[in-house]
Amino acid sequence: MSAERAHEELARLRENALGCTRCVLARGRTQVVFGVGNPSAELMFVGEGPGREEDLQGEPFVGRSGKLLDLLMRQEIGIGREECYIANVVKCRPPGNRDPLPAEIEACRPYLEGQIDLIAPKVVVTLGNFATKTLLETAEGIRRVRGRVYPFRGVHLVPTYHPAAALRGGGEVVAEMRADFVRAKTLLRGPAMTARS
Ligand code: URA
Repeated sequence: MSAERAHEELARLRENALGCTRCVLARGRTQVVFGVGNPSAELMFVGEGPGREEDLQGEPFVGRSGKLLDLLMRQEIGIGREECYIANVVKCRPPGNRDPLPAEIEACRPYLEGQIDLIAPKVVVTLGNFATKTLLETAEGIRRVRGRVYPFRGVHLVPTYHPAAALRGGGEVVAEMRADFVRAKTLLRGPAMTARS
């Protein structure tokens, strides 16, 4: 698919998501937080779901976690958020920031998979347990799965901690996140998982 066509399809997917009522999260949202960034990005981050700030501003990772994500991205990969693409597993804020439920994750899965297929990045970094378990379809926790690279839909998938866990967990967690970001950077310099025309 041409880049132009992929961008059009991504815009169409976004339009669909903005009116989505597939699950109960639609009732409590201020707005759908579809995703932000470069639609041809080589690097994509996937978080869990919008929090209060994201729900108000309509952009992923604009609160405290986002500040840390931006910092690590800049320091370890050398890019700003406008150069990558950032999305979440669920596009609407769970009430009170509760965990998204399995039915909500499944209802939202086609949007996330559509984003990954249309953006076709070289590397996807999953932030935390929800994103990692959803995409790798594993029950293993992030502590066990991080530190390695996984093939996923023709993309290199690098699991790491959620920045909120790093804010709580301190230096050791941040150091591991930094190592995972360096892993992603190295992969960005190498060949794609699958050759694309
Ligand atoms: N946490 C997430 O997982 N996603 C956001 O967009 C913000 C905080």
